[in-house]
Amino acid sequence: MKFFILLLLLAGSLATQIAAADKFQWQVTEIGDHNYVPLDQVKTFYRFTQLQIQDEAKTLTLSSRSVEAIFRTETRAAYFNGVKFVLTHPLVKKDDGYLVSQFDLSALIDPILRPKFIKNAGKFKTVILDAGHGGKDQGSAGEEAKHTLKLAKKLKPLLEKKGYTVIMTREEDIFVPLADRVQMANAHENAVFISLHFNSGNPNAQGFETYVLSRRIPGKNTHAASVALATAVHSRAIFSLGKGHIKDRGIRSANFNVLNGCIHPAILIEAGFLTNKEEAAMVTADDFQKILVESIVNGINVYRSAVTK
Ligand SMILES: [Zn+2]
Repeated sequence: MKFFILLLLLAGSLATQIAAADKFQWQVTEIGDHNYVPLDQVKTFYRFTQLQIQDEAKTLTLSSRSVEAIFRTETRAAYFNGVKFVLTHPLVKKDDGYLVSQFDLSALIDPILRPKFIKNAGKFKTVILDAGHGGKDQGSAGEEAKHTLKLAKKLKPLLEKKGYTVIMTREEDIFVPLADRVQMANAHENAVFISLHFNSGNPNAQGFETYVLSRRIPGKNTHAASVALATAVHSRAIFSLGKGHIKDRGIRSANFNVLNGCIHPAILIEAGFLTNKEEAAMVTADDFQKILVESIVNGINVYRSAVTK
């Protein structure tokens, strides 16, 4: 349990120690189409005190007093204080060391470890709730639309109680095109966007995952803010729902741009598989959803304190 700490808040205090790091010279290596930097330099830059190589180099662990970052070299999985992330590029072994892609460093690792440095984040009071699907598009197992709306309707009063203004992209069983949802969201300033979905896959597929949606729009780059929002919400949800209870499929920030053009920090939650009978029964039950909506609200609050300057 000790790793399920307030990852963002602790990392936020770490950020003040490394605030003077602007002049840091990264040693960049180009491999294929991508740039990489040494894991050793990641250790130095973020003031990790230890790099351990274990398990025949399948597991690399960076640790400091407040953060433990584990990289699995055979997969793209990385764990920050127990929260799973899926890197866009796997680590690369070079000479005696390992390299991390610069994309993952700036798009994923930095926003997790230095939320105070995130641009286009901060003061917001509006939460846009997007209940996925609806109308002629019922989504996973023909039932997703009903359940996402139920979830959004449970979230709304809880968020309002915390002082947020809540905008819903739909409040009934109607079809709303994705572009209209984005337009609705962009009509508001200083907001975050939360899209609610349930997953579909083979009958055995299971687990909970969170996607970072926002595109890197010039001048309105909210990608890093979205990563921080995803981290806060996903870690609260996995912690509260219990890791043994639901499989953690991690936070994914790869090019998943369903909602192209949203100007706000934006995430998409896939709260379990409706195509898996057992999991569908669990994730549509009231007790599960009660914990889930409370942890989403907590996550939004944690994000707000982590990025507020
Ligand atoms: Zn969906």
